[in-house]
Amino acid sequence: MLSGLFRSTTSKVVRSSRRAFASTEAYDHYGSHLFKGDVADKYLKAHGSSSALLDDPSWTDHSADTVAAAVLDWAADNGADTYCHWFQPMAANGVRHGLTGQVQNKMLEFDRTTNKIKWDFKGKDLVKGETDGSSFPNGGLRATHTAGGYLAVDTSSNIFLRGDTIFIPSAFVSYYGAALDEKTPLLRANEALNTQGKRLLSLLGYDVEEIVANIGLEQEIFLVPRDQYLRRPDLQMTGRTVIGKNAPRGQEMCDHYMAPPSTAQPALEAMQEMQEECWLMGIPLKTRHREVAPNQYEFAPLFGTNTTQIDQNIMVMQVIEEVAAKHGLAALLQEKPFNDVNGSGKHNNWSLGTTGGVNLLNPAQLNKASGNADSFPVIMSAIISAVAEHGDLMRMAISCPGNDFRLGACEAPPAIVSTYLGDDMTSYLEAFKDGKTGEYNPGLKTLDLGTSSVMPFNVPAEDRNRTSPFPYGGARFEFRAVGSSQNVSMVNTVLNTITAQKFKQFADAIEGGASPSAVAGEALNKSWKAIFNGDNYDEANQQMLTDRGVWRIDSGVEAINQLSADKNKTLFSEMDVMTSDECDARAVILHDHYTGTVEMEALVLVDMIQQHIIPSVKEANVPGVGDLEKAVSTLKDAVKEIHAAGSSYEQAKLARVLRLETMIDIREVCDKAEELVPADLWTLATYKELMFLDQTDQGGLTY
Ligand code: ADP
Ligand code: MG
Repeated sequence: MLSGLFRSTTSKVVRSSRRAFASTEAYDHYGSHLFKGDVADKYLKAHGSSSALLDDPSWTDHSADTVAAAVLDWAADNGADTYCHWFQPMAANGVRHGLTGQVQNKMLEFDRTTNKIKWDFKGKDLVKGETDGSSFPNGGLRATHTAGGYLAVDTSSNIFLRGDTIFIPSAFVSYYGAALDEKTPLLRANEALNTQGKRLLSLLGYDVEEIVANIGLEQEIFLVPRDQYLRRPDLQMTGRTVIGKNAPRGQEMCDHYMAPPSTAQPALEAMQEMQEECWLMGIPLKTRHREVAPNQYEFAPLFGTNTTQIDQNIMVMQVIEEVAAKHGLAALLQEKPFNDVNGSGKHNNWSLGTTGGVNLLNPAQLNKASGNADSFPVIMSAIISAVAEHGDLMRMAISCPGNDFRLGACEAPPAIVSTYLGDDMTSYLEAFKDGKTGEYNPGLKTLDLGTSSVMPFNVPAEDRNRTSPFPYGGARFEFRAVGSSQNVSMVNTVLNTITAQKFKQFADAIEGGASPSAVAGEALNKSWKAIFNGDNYDEANQQMLTDRGVWRIDSGVEAINQLSADKNKTLFSEMDVMTSDECDARAVILHDHYTGTVEMEALVLVDMIQQHIIPSVKEANVPGVGDLEKAVSTLKDAVKEIHAAGSSYEQAKLARVLRLETMIDIREVCDKAEELVPADLWTLATYKELMFLDQTDQGGLTY
C-alpha cells in the first residue's frame, strides 16, 4: 500500500535524522490524496479535460461524468473503491468523532446476472446524495415525517482520499433548502462577502475578480497516556475531568511552553505520524510545538481559503484522535480537560484577500494594488464597526460548552469583544477620521542587543497583545477566543457576514453620494469604543469596557440566544445567510447541545461518585461518605429539574447553574476525598498520572 510505503520512508528519515540529505523527495506524496492541481490534472487529462475544469463550479452541471471518471481512476490507483458525501451536522463538537457525517458506498456495480463486480461511479453519484437524516439536530427545521435531507458537492473545497474512501465535501440541507449543517451558512456568507466587498472596492476604484476570506487555524490539544485515560470515565464520556485534585505541579514554573518534545515519549512520534497522514491529503500542517500546560501541544497549518481550512481542520482533529490511540495516547480536543492549568483554544487567524493574491488587510499590498490610500482605512473601519455592532454574534460563535471554563480565566480573552489595533494604527485611524489623508505605512523599529555578536535587527512597530479577543497582527486579525473542539464554520460565517453588511452599508452610502473617507470616518466615530489596546485581563479595564458599552456577554448560554435577536435576524436575512427560522433553529440546537453536554457530565459524575469515590472512601475509612451521598441526590434532582423545564433556553440556563455552581461545589467534596484516600485505594487516574508524560520513564504507558 502506498501509505505504508510513505510511512516507512518518512519514519526512517525522521528517526535516523538523515532526512534524505535535506531532499524534499520524502514529501513527494504530499497532496497525492487530494484531487487538486497536478494530481487532478493528470486524471482529468486522461478524460479529455484538465484541472482548470474544477475552477468553475458549473462543472457539476455539464461535466460531472468527466470528473467522476477521473476521480474513479485516481481512487483505483490509490487503493480506494469507496466514496461518501462528507458533511458537517450541527452540534457535533465534543461528542461526534470527526465532527462529520458520512455514508460510505462502494464505487462498484454488483451484477445480478453474471454475479461479477464492475467499477461504477457516475457524475450523478458524485454531485448529489440523498439521505434520510432525521436523526440529526435540526431545531425544528425538519420532522421525522418530513425527513428528506440532501447532500450537494461543495466545489470550494477539494475531494480527498483517506484509506479506501473518497471524501466529497458536501453541503447538507433539508428538502426545502434549509441549512442543516455548519457549511451551508458559511458558503452563503462567503458569497455575501464577495459581492459586497467587490462592490465597495470598485467604488474605491479597485476592480477585483473575487474576494475570499483566508484563515489559519492553530489547534491546541492534550495528549495523555491512554491507559490512564481509560481509568477516567469523565474523560471518556465528556472529554474533560469533572473532578480531580491538582497535582503537586502544574504550569507554575512556565516550564512546558515550547519545551523540547521528548524523543523518549510517544507524543513526538504520534505528532510526526499525524503530520505524515496530513501530508498525503495535502493538509499543510506546518508547525508543531508544546503548549503552556503539561501534556499540551499545538499544530498550526499554512493558512488558506476558509472552506478548505475548516474541512482540513476537521480532518486534522480526527487524525489526531485516531493516531494518538495507535501510540498508546488519548487526544483530548475539549477546551478544558483539566482544572487550574490552561485549556485549549483554536486561534482563528482571518484575513481578506483577492484571488489574485492581494491581502486586503496588508496596507502595503493594498495601497499598491488599489492605488488609493483610502482603501485600507476604509476596509479597517468597516471591520471595526462590524465588531462594535455585532460583537454579540462573535461571542455567540465561540459559545461552545467547553469555552465556559476558558473565557475570562486569564488564559483566553474575556467575553468582552473589543479589538486591538496597536498604537501606530490607532493614531493613524484617529487622524484619518479627523480628515487627514495619506497612506498607512506601518513602521519598523530596530532592536540592538548591545553585543556585536548579534547584529541589530528590525521588528514590527507594534507589540503583540495576547489578552485581546480580536487583535490585528499586521495583515490579519486573530480571533483568539475560539474553542479547540469547535467546527469554526459559524465563527467564520459571523466574521464574513458582519463584514459584508458593513461593506454593503459603506457602498450604499458612497453610491448615494458620500465620500468614502466621510463614510468610514463616521463609522469609526460610532465604533471607536470597540478599539482597546490595553490589558484585557485587568478587571478595572474590563469594567471600563463594560461601561463604555462594548459587547459583553459573560454566559455562553445567553450569547447563543442572540441568534434570535431581531438585529441579528435582520442581518442574516439581509445578507442571505440564514432565514429567521434558521437562526431560531440554530439557537435551539446550540442550547440543546449545551444541556446535553452538561447532563452527560453530571451523570458521569454520579457514576464516579457511586462506583469509585464512595467505595474508596469507605475502604479507606476516611470521612465524607455522607456529603458524597448527598451530592449524588443533588445531581440527580438537578437533572430531573432540567428535563422538566419548559424550553431549550430555560433548560440550558438551569444546566449552566448545575455545571458552574452545583458541580463545582461537589467537585470540592470529591477532591477533598481524593486528598485523604491512600493512593493504592484510589481507583481513578489522578492528575499526576494523566498529565506528566515527561516525568515518567515509561512513556506514560505503564506505572
Ligand atoms: P502565533 O504566533 O499566532 O502562534 P502561528 O505561526 O503559530 O502564530 O500561527 C499563525 C497562523 O496564522 C498560521 O496558521 C498562519 O498560516 C496563519 N496566518 C498567517 N498569515 C495569515 C493571513 N494573512 N491570513 C490568515 N491566516 C494567516
Ligand atoms: Mg496565534
